Amino acid sequence: MMRVGHGFDVHPLVEGRKLMLGGVHVAFERGALGHSDADVLAHAIADALLGAAGLSDLGTRFPASDPRWKDADSMELLAQCAAAVRAAGFEIVNTDATIVVDRPKLAPHIDWMRANLAVRLEIDQSRISVKAKSSEGLGYTGDGTGIAAYAVALLSS
Ligand code: MG
Repeated sequence: MMRVGHGFDVHPLVEGRKLMLGGVHVAFERGALGHSDADVLAHAIADALLGAAGLSDLGTRFPASDPRWKDADSMELLAQCAAAVRAAGFEIVNTDATIVVDRPKLAPHIDWMRANLAVRLEIDQSRISVKAKSSEGLGYTGDGTGIAAYAVALLSS
């Protein structure tokens, strides 16, 4: 059986925070604000995996109200989600994600993100797609106040 899942995440961009995307520290004047390290790409992919497996969502498994996840490494949380998906009897076929932000430009970092994700998801990098999309100056992803990511994941059992 094949099962598809979808994930979405958004974080504000503020001064004084790191911008972590797929475990890559992207040099930029602002970073993502959140309880964990606020890695919007890792969060979207985690929710896609959990959704496909019918295992609720990242915020339920790792609540922001829990001090254990303060400044947590989101790629470690993602690895735990992938392990939960496997424990439920699924294999990860592929995942495809889109990060939406106008600045910084992410193209030079995409393959590092994919390599990091391949390690954490324990699948070949060829099964992991990450894309960056500008929002043409529109809305919170266009004016620099926020960053968003969407992801889908396909599982087989
Ligand atoms: Mg998040």
